[in-house]
Amino acid sequence: MKNKVFALKSKIWLSPPHMSGYEQEFIDEAFKTNWIAPLGPNVIGFEKDIESYLNHNSHVVALSSGTAAIHLALILLNVGFGDEVLCQTKTFAASVNPVVYQGAKPIFIDSEKETWNMCPVLLEKAIKERIALNKKPKAIIAINLYGMPYNVEAINRISKAYAIPVIEDSAEAIGGNYKGQKCGTFGDFSIFSFNGNKIITTSGGGALITRNKKAKEKAVFLATQAKDIGVEYSHSTIGYNYRLSNVLAGIGRGQMKVLDDRVDLRRRNYKFYYEHLSSNKNISFLKEPEGYFTNRWLTCVVFQSNKVREDVRLLLEKENIESRPSWKPMHLQPVFKSFPKYLNGTSEELYEKGLCLPSGSNLTIEDLNKIVKIIKSYFE
Ligand SMILES: *Cc1c(COP(=O)(O)O)cnc(C)c1O
Repeated sequence: MKNKVFALKSKIWLSPPHMSGYEQEFIDEAFKTNWIAPLGPNVIGFEKDIESYLNHNSHVVALSSGTAAIHLALILLNVGFGDEVLCQTKTFAASVNPVVYQGAKPIFIDSEKETWNMCPVLLEKAIKERIALNKKPKAIIAINLYGMPYNVEAINRISKAYAIPVIEDSAEAIGGNYKGQKCGTFGDFSIFSFNGNKIITTSGGGALITRNKKAKEKAVFLATQAKDIGVEYSHSTIGYNYRLSNVLAGIGRGQMKVLDDRVDLRRRNYKFYYEHLSSNKNISFLKEPEGYFTNRWLTCVVFQSNKVREDVRLLLEKENIESRPSWKPMHLQPVFKSFPKYLNGTSEELYEKGLCLPSGSNLTIEDLNKIVKIIKSYFE
């Protein structure tokens, strides 16, 4: 047992959970009052905490995962069998899987270089082509990758011009903002993830955010098995078991108290890597364009070639340091490769050459120094 704990401690992880201590108080309260289930004060409180954090007329539904939140957003937008949904190809598979749960078809859109997020030019090209094929897309899933906001103005303009709603996947982006407007408030629907690897976590969980009170009520109904009013178990529509547990919501309440601090620490990591590595011509960084504020969930650096990226990754692995290739684009995934795609090469290049460095808010300066030293040693 002792050895196991030691092994967990000595490894430097990509993005481990970082508890503040406040979580335990909310969990203890749930145990004391036996509010283990059903839904209770922690769930309601967690939703209120997020609503007041966003401060943007937002209605929040706490859910069991970010994936569930995307699924419900698609259902609320009436995405169904045979419909097409435009989706950023540079993302994690959970952004796209729910499209297929609905029997709909993802259409992949490549990224722009400035943000690594959905390229507005390709998005508009795709919309025009799909409309010409008589297949007007039902929704756009835009991602705030690694915490960097997408080009909100451009994507919203296109969304309005063609009357196609946006689902904002902010799974990685709570704490970021675009021209002062917080991530989680850009889309017709927005989602957060509180999975264990995200900037704050409930060990597993997510949230759906809407600007519409009725939509929240409908989401809660669907997420709690779509039980019709009354004590009989009567159902007139298909439901889901997607609500967050009252115990886990307690972890979320504790984490919300330290969100700003966690953003500062993640940004500190980026700054440290940038200051120590950016003078090396072989390594490039994603800069923050004017008006963008990223939470720097993960710091991802781009090397000259796939070989260098892999060499560095393996060198870190040998020292018990976890790093990961940048997300493999969805259009390259065996399970998605037959779907239509609009490409410009950006997502493939980032996948080949990009490496996500350890980015936890609980990294120490010694950890950061060790990582930088190993990377530098490769180029000496
Ligand atoms: C983590 C993540 C999700 C899924 O969230 P879960 O809570 O793990 O279901 C969706 N999209 C992106 C971009 C993510 O990083």
